[in-house]
Amino acid sequence: MGERIDFRDGRWVVPDHPIIPFIEGDGTGPDIWRAARRVFDAVVEQVARGKRRIEWLEVLAGEKAFKQLGTWLPEATLDTIRTHRVAIKGPLTTPVGGGIRSLNVALRQVLDLYACIRPVRYFEGVPSPMREPQKLDVVIFRENIEDVYSGVEYKAGSPEADQVIAFLTERFGAKIRPGSAIGIKPMSKFGSQRLVVKAIEYALRAGRRSVTLVHKGNIMKFTEGGFREWGYEVARERFGDRTIPEADAGVGKRETDKVIMKDRITDAMFAQLVLRPEEYSVIAAPNLNGDLLSDAAAAQVGGLGLAPGGNVGDGYAVFEATHGTAPKYAGQDKVNPGSVILSGAMMFEELGWDDVATAIGRGLGGAIRSRRVTYDLARLMPGATEVSTSAFAECIIEHA
Ligand code: NAP
Repeated sequence: MGERIDFRDGRWVVPDHPIIPFIEGDGTGPDIWRAARRVFDAVVEQVARGKRRIEWLEVLAGEKAFKQLGTWLPEATLDTIRTHRVAIKGPLTTPVGGGIRSLNVALRQVLDLYACIRPVRYFEGVPSPMREPQKLDVVIFRENIEDVYSGVEYKAGSPEADQVIAFLTERFGAKIRPGSAIGIKPMSKFGSQRLVVKAIEYALRAGRRSVTLVHKGNIMKFTEGGFREWGYEVARERFGDRTIPEADAGVGKRETDKVIMKDRITDAMFAQLVLRPEEYSVIAAPNLNGDLLSDAAAAQVGGLGLAPGGNVGDGYAVFEATHGTAPKYAGQDKVNPGSVILSGAMMFEELGWDDVATAIGRGLGGAIRSRRVTYDLARLMPGATEVSTSAFAECIIEHA
């Protein structure tokens, strides 16, 4: 019998037989979920030798929910995920023009999943546009609620935009061209600091050397600049004995065992990740910066095909593949299950099953090195043998 995962005093309480809800997803979702589940169960069995096992619980969303229940996102799905706290999902179709809420948005809001976490690292053998892609190994913590996700926008020429312009001009002497579109991005100390706290806690737990705050504070002094200031402040106040600002670490004192707190302006950070990737480890960024950086970093190590993701709050977490449903390949047992498998590895790491996470990473790395890979990698790797989704999963298990 499975048991629920709990969260007490800021920590996950994970039974040996946790119940984990899953959404298999639309399009190729069932193909990759089947393969991923096979890998998760086999690796847990290998590592824990029967002592631990996952009780998977299917919840419906997307096309499957619509066909069976007439709704794209049943309330029961949200309730089950809330009750069980940790879930994993495949990609879902976003119906064009439909008035439905996106599941990701709903989950983010209902469970307050304020950190979007994207680890980006290289797997040997994956074709990359970089000469030394292995030097990039970062975990990006992107704020998931505020900034442009809470943005308020008014169309150019609308009464709302005109009134906001009139108000700002008359009351505060702002200079705004009449007829402009207006956008407001709110960023709070509370929202910024809890994200930075998550990034620092992760760096400490994972033995990572630095946390870099990425911001555009030279131009947006109070929102992006606030993110930088609040980040350093919470590092000093809550982790003063375990972190040190880069300015105080100094050249030649690099052997410090404290986590070094750095900050970089967004545009410079893009250049740094290309030119000196080895100097960065954990990155904490506001919503838009984090969004841009995550995809750019993933491209450096060979694209989005293998990029995992997790949306994490306090006591709630949902992990997912970062690609879409690739509907033209649905049911062909053809596409790469790597992204959802690595999302599972992230989930196990978050829950403290590091042994399982490590074995999954090892298995995927070994499968790619063996050059028996799915079509997307095979077409780019000279001499590789193309295998099906399910055969690739078996190959991962063999190498775990
Ligand atoms: P997509 O499903 O990501 O597919 C675009 C292309 O990426 C595919 O044609 C394929 O390239 C490649 N690809 C995607 N997944 C792959 C995999 N597992 N293995 C190998 N190659 C893979 O993007 P889309 O066509 O723009 O979106 C399709 C649907 O997915 C839409 O309804 C969209 O809204 C939804 N979507 C959902 C999520 C989510 O749920 N998280 C995210 C993004 C999009 P080739 O054609 O070159 O082989």
